[in-house]
Amino acid sequence: MDGTAVVIGAGMGGLATARVLSRRYAQVVVLDRDTLPAGGEPRRGVPQSAHGHILLISGLRELAGLFPGLDDELVERGASRFDLGTGLCNYRFGRRRISAPAGQDLTSVSRPQLEAVIRERVATEPNVKIREGVTVSALTGTATAVTGVVLDTGETIAAGLVVDCSGRSSRSDRWLAELGLPTPRQLEVEIGVAYTTRVYRRGSDELEGWRAAIVVPEPPHEKRAGLVLPIEGDRWLVAVGGWHIDPVPSDVASFEAYARSLPDPIVANLISRAEPLGEPVPYRFRSSRRRLFEELDRLPAGYVTVGDAVCSFNPIYGQGMTVAAMAAVALGEVLDRHGSVTAAAARDYYRAAAGLIAVPWRFAVGNDFAYPETAGPRPRGVGLTNWYSKRLGIASQVSPELSRVYLGVQQLLAPPSELLKPSVIAKALRLGGRRDGRAS
Ligand SMILES: Cc1cc2nc3c(=O)[nH]c(=O)nc-3n(C[C@H](O)[C@H](O)[C@H](O)COP(=O)(O)OP(=O)(O)OC[C@H]3O[C@@H](n4cnc5c(N)ncnc54)[C@H](O)[C@@H]3O)c2cc1C
Repeated sequence: MDGTAVVIGAGMGGLATARVLSRRYAQVVVLDRDTLPAGGEPRRGVPQSAHGHILLISGLRELAGLFPGLDDELVERGASRFDLGTGLCNYRFGRRRISAPAGQDLTSVSRPQLEAVIRERVATEPNVKIREGVTVSALTGTATAVTGVVLDTGETIAAGLVVDCSGRSSRSDRWLAELGLPTPRQLEVEIGVAYTTRVYRRGSDELEGWRAAIVVPEPPHEKRAGLVLPIEGDRWLVAVGGWHIDPVPSDVASFEAYARSLPDPIVANLISRAEPLGEPVPYRFRSSRRRLFEELDRLPAGYVTVGDAVCSFNPIYGQGMTVAAMAAVALGEVLDRHGSVTAAAARDYYRAAAGLIAVPWRFAVGNDFAYPETAGPRPRGVGLTNWYSKRLGIASQVSPELSRVYLGVQQLLAPPSELLKPSVIAKALRLGGRRDGRAS
């Protein structure tokens, strides 16, 4: 396609989108308000970047489709790859999951490193220009068509397509309203999630032979979670936190005490053995938020949003980067069908994005409503779904077969209907009705 596409934001959604558009536009300009680090360091514009980011297996596949060889490159540059069934110590419902191969490999890397590797790839595209230290403050155009962006310096950049990938704090509502357009209805679910993260030096024996660990609380009485991930540079990223947490641990003493309060000692043991490489960093995530662009009856040509600007999920489920990458790919498919982003194409894209968001949103929000403190629009049938998912969860801890099915759905590799196959239901109810997982 002739012409320029502008991408607002060089985060995960923006980089995937830039790659998609580089195959379809003569020129792509990516604008970010941050100074972008040369290596994999956390940055101000992405305050979550210091915290653990699990890239779902489906997300890595999606990104590797855009950036061939990405998975191997990440490993060459220090990421850890391991089987989810044998590498991840998973404590849930009062016990550790039985170790058995799942046939599903997770690649663990820090968020800044993942972003840096992808940014390097995008920067080598001859028709992509990444401009850092520039903030978009408005759109140009009319209620019928967006024609470009205005920077806070007053500079304007004309574009045939503007894609807002500016993340959770996107100002697209204001920008659309300034053009006389309606703004999308918003769903907000208060989950009171908080995390504190600290990085440690990784040796060989701090995690009892496991490659990573997760301690998951059992709602509604347990709220505290723990996470240990191997990241590049022979480091462990250790996070503690959970749902409806107040106060969030903010110093070494409260961080360590919190780790010791978890029902499995694996996180506290690692902390007692490993050398810390920095201070604990707290983060609060009060609500999941979804903007329903697909409901709008008036959309301008030449403008869409991708990533957290559309839906910002509870980070505990690790879905945001994967859904952002999937939406970027969906945008490319819409462009191929329509030839350009007309209002009809934008509608088509938002419908596709809504379809991608529906399952992970329901999965995350449904689980969050297992806590009575969770507030907001509650999906229908949550009580029954959570009743079943608890049994399935208990059963998955002892049945490698059910664990594989569950992981496939949780990693967005398989549809949720897999969990409702008669053989799966029968086994989940048989094994999941008892706490020890033994059939009655
Ligand atoms: C604590 C935490 C942990 C998380 N853990 C996971 C996880 O385990 N797995 C997972 O998949 N997801 C996780 N997420 C979600 C993930 O971070 C997001 O889904 C993902 O970053 C979305 O990418 P994005 O491009 O939409 O936004 P971002 O990556 O946030 O990028 C937005 C970019 O836009 C730029 N920007 C903003 N406004 C402007 C402007 N006006 N002009 C120019 N530039 C602008 C910013 O500087 C930034 O670079 C987590 C989130 C949090 C908060």
